[in-house]
Amino acid sequence: MPFSQPTVIRSRRVVLPDGERPADVLIRDGRIERVVAHGSLAVGDRKLADRELADRELLDRELVDLGDTALLPGLVDTHVHVNEPGRTEWEGFATATRAAAAGGVTTIIDMPLNSIPPTTTVEGLRVKRKTAEGQAWVDLGFWGGAVPGNVADLEPLYREGVFGFKSFLAPSGVDEFPHVEGPDLEAALAEQARIGALAIIHAEDPAVLAAAPQQPGVHYRDFLASRPADAETAAVAHLLDTARRTGARVHILHVSSAAVLPLLRRAREDGVRVTAETCPHYLTLAAEQVPDGDTAFKCCPPIRDESNRDALWEALANGEFIAVVSDHSPSTPDLKLLPEYGGSGDFAAAWGGIASLQLGLPAVWTEARRRGHSLSDVVRWMSAGPAELVGLTGTKGAIAPGHDADLVAFDPDGEFAVRASGLHHRNPVTPYAGRTLTGAVRGTWLRGREVDTGARPFGRQLVRPADSLSDSAGRTDSAF
Ligand SMILES: [Zn+2]
Repeated sequence: MPFSQPTVIRSRRVVLPDGERPADVLIRDGRIERVVAHGSLAVGDRKLADRELADRELLDRELVDLGDTALLPGLVDTHVHVNEPGRTEWEGFATATRAAAAGGVTTIIDMPLNSIPPTTTVEGLRVKRKTAEGQAWVDLGFWGGAVPGNVADLEPLYREGVFGFKSFLAPSGVDEFPHVEGPDLEAALAEQARIGALAIIHAEDPAVLAAAPQQPGVHYRDFLASRPADAETAAVAHLLDTARRTGARVHILHVSSAAVLPLLRRAREDGVRVTAETCPHYLTLAAEQVPDGDTAFKCCPPIRDESNRDALWEALANGEFIAVVSDHSPSTPDLKLLPEYGGSGDFAAAWGGIASLQLGLPAVWTEARRRGHSLSDVVRWMSAGPAELVGLTGTKGAIAPGHDADLVAFDPDGEFAVRASGLHHRNPVTPYAGRTLTGAVRGTWLRGREVDTGARPFGRQLVRPADSLSDSAGRTDSAF
C-alpha cells in the first residue's frame, strides 16, 4: 500500500488554518509534528534540508507525495445516527464508520437516539460503548439525550464524557426518545446551564406541525406543506427565550429554513449563547428537484425551495453557521417505502432521514466551488467548525502541530457518478444516487495510519476533553 504509515505527506495544496499552500507535513506517533515548506523534507537519503530532523530516524521512512491532490484535515461530523444496538439493520458502527472514512470523515459524534437503548442514562452509554468496541474505522464520540424525566441522569452522563445533550421540541419519530416541552424543557436547560453542558436541539414546533395540512401521497410539495418553515421559527423563538432565562448554551441542529437566521442574530446580540448548523442536503438539494415518490429525499425539517437554499449559502458565507454536518440518519429501504423496493412512495409515512455520510464532502464542495468558495471554506465548515462546537480544537479539525494526524487526500477536480450500491453505509439508499459530484477522496489517515478497510479497525472512542468543561458548576471534573 503506497499510503501506509507515512512519515511525510507532501502536497501542493495543503489546507492549513491560515489558508492553502504547498507544504510537507511531518507525522510522528500519530500526531502532526510540524508543517514545513514543500519539498524541504528529503526522505530516504542523507540530504535532509532540515538538519534538526537528521538524527530522528526520518531516513528510510515513507514519503507520500500527493502532487496536486489536496491534503485536508479529516472532517468532523458531529451529527451521525449510528442506530446500533437496537436498530442495527438501519445502520451500525462498522458500516457507518467505513462510510465516514471513505468520505474523508475521521471523527463522528453519535446521536443518542434510534439505537435501543437510547443514550439517556449512563447504562445506555455503556451499552453503546461496549457495542462499538473494535468496530470503529474512525474516532467516535457520543452525545447524550435529554428527555422528559431524565434530568438526574444528565450530570452523571456528562461526567462519563458525552459531548452534550440532544433534545427534540417535537416528536422524534421513535417512541423511546420523547420530546421535551414546557417544564421539561425548562428543567433540562437549567440543569445543562448548571453543569456547563451544550444543549443541541431539534427545533420544530409541535403545535405548528399539528396545525399544518397533512396530505399523504407521493408529491413532495404536500410533505413540504406539512412541515412549514413556521415550525422552525416558532420552535427557535421559544428555545431562545428558554435559553435566555436559564443561561444554557444552545445549538440549533440541522437548520433548514433560512427564516430562523434573523432570530439567531438578534439573540446573539442580546448575549444568548447560540450556535447553529446546517447540512449538505439543505445546501445542495432543493424541493423543486425532488421526484414524485422519491422518499430518499425525506428528512425533517425538510429540504426547502431554491431561494431558501441561496439564503442558507449566504448565511454560511457570513459565518452564521458554525458547522455543516451530515445528519446521516438511514433506515432500511422498506421503511423508506421506496417504489423501487415495492413501497408506496408516500412521503407522509416514510421514515424521515437522509443517508449521506460518505458524500457530504464532495456534495458540499461541488456546490461551494460553483458559488466561488475555496477548499479552506469547506474545511472551516466541515472540520474546524464542528471540532470547535464539541471542544476538540486541540486535537481535531486542523493540520497543525500537536493535532492528531487525521488527514484526507482530496482531488478537488475528480468527478464521479454516485451509485448507491457503491457506498459503505448499510442500506443502499441516498438522494444523491445518479448525481455527478466533483471532488474525490483518494485516501484517509487516522492518527497517521491509512484507514484500510481490509485491516482491523483502529478508531478510538473519545470523551469530551476536560478543558472544555465549564466552571459554572463550581468544580473541575476528575473523570478524565
Ligand atoms: Zn439527526
